[in-house]
Amino acid sequence: MRLPLALAFFVASVLATQRRYDGYQVYEVTAKNKASFDVLVKLYNERSDIYDFWTEPRNVDFKTDVMVPPAYTKTFVNLMQVFDMEYHIKIADVQNEIEQSRKDIAPPLKTRKGLSKSSGDSRYSLDWTSYSDLPAIYEFVNEMAATYPNLVTVTSAGTSYEGNDMPLVKISTGGSGEKNVIFAEGGIHAREWIAPAYVTWMIRELVENYAAHPEYVDNIDWYIMPILNPDGYTYTFSPTGDRLWRKNRAPNQGICVGTDLNRNFDFQWNTGGSSSLECGETYHGGAPFSQVEARNVRDAILSVANRTKVYFSFHSYGQYWLTPWGYTSALPDDYQDLFDLAQSAVDKLTAVEGTPYKIGSSTNLLGLASGCSDDWAKGGAGIKYSYTVEMRDKGTFGFQLPANQILPNNLEVWEGVKVVAEAVMLM
Ligand SMILES: [Zn+2]
Repeated sequence: MRLPLALAFFVASVLATQRRYDGYQVYEVTAKNKASFDVLVKLYNERSDIYDFWTEPRNVDFKTDVMVPPAYTKTFVNLMQVFDMEYHIKIADVQNEIEQSRKDIAPPLKTRKGLSKSSGDSRYSLDWTSYSDLPAIYEFVNEMAATYPNLVTVTSAGTSYEGNDMPLVKISTGGSGEKNVIFAEGGIHAREWIAPAYVTWMIRELVENYAAHPEYVDNIDWYIMPILNPDGYTYTFSPTGDRLWRKNRAPNQGICVGTDLNRNFDFQWNTGGSSSLECGETYHGGAPFSQVEARNVRDAILSVANRTKVYFSFHSYGQYWLTPWGYTSALPDDYQDLFDLAQSAVDKLTAVEGTPYKIGSSTNLLGLASGCSDDWAKGGAGIKYSYTVEMRDKGTFGFQLPANQILPNNLEVWEGVKVVAEAVMLM
């Protein structure tokens, strides 16, 4: 039996709305003592299906951003008061912020085809003055390969659960395959739009601006994955999706979709700071490397791991330059080396326009998180310098970083990456 046409349109229009966040609020919370910190960690570990921690609970006296649904505001505020936590509202209405940031989204690539492109004679649409959808990222990397065949090779690291490609961009002047490698990726968390926006820009900088700093490409092979979670990313742009989606889009046993890919790596998997709840934002999956996207990244890294000196995972937000470990407060034996290079990088980064970054191990700055890609890159793939960079901002806009901050963010982070590249040339 077929639905009458009008009814079908009505059903479609009711279903075709993005998830709304009316009345959702983001609280900045500070635990004042061990007992209240433990409560915060318990909420993070056991109620992450309700409370969305935009930043992880770190330590006593550190500030944590938590998004609270309107139905739980009273419960949450009561908890804060009972356990003597400092709290205040940072974002009064998340839906309102989402509406405000719609102007920062580029029109979908398919509607732009055939129109004259904004960036002059450029053969791609990305211009880093707005956030672009997945097809625009594909178009960009393919145009790089087509325009600069002597520098850029694009292969596929595999496809996602929904069948979206996961491009692997190699930037190299060739040679016998003995050069040191920097492996960089972004977009493992869907809602962190600045991450693919940075990583694609870095590809552009290395390739189109090659002549300004040929040494970075002449002496180093770069392997770059601009989009690790293409299904989740697409969902954050979809008119029927969810702007604040974090996980991938593979179904679980129950009603909740998605695994946190950055808790799914097979190094100290499920040993703290990840969730066993399928509905949780940090759900670690049913087994290490249960998710195809995580396996694809693993295989891409392993294919060059013996030459890789540095692994970069770009995220937002908080302005941290993080080292392993995430699974323990203990530090790697060579932590001082990682810290010193990070310090040199951050010095240059901050010199651009004063943006402060904190440096330290993930656990010590952000709290426990196991099964993360950076821990695996170091502990599993043997890459010495493994860094997670949490870019702008510090929570004023959070994941909805205004598009007019994309280029300032990219320029300063690039100054830090250049310092690391210079060190890699001497390794
Ligand atoms: Zn992230």
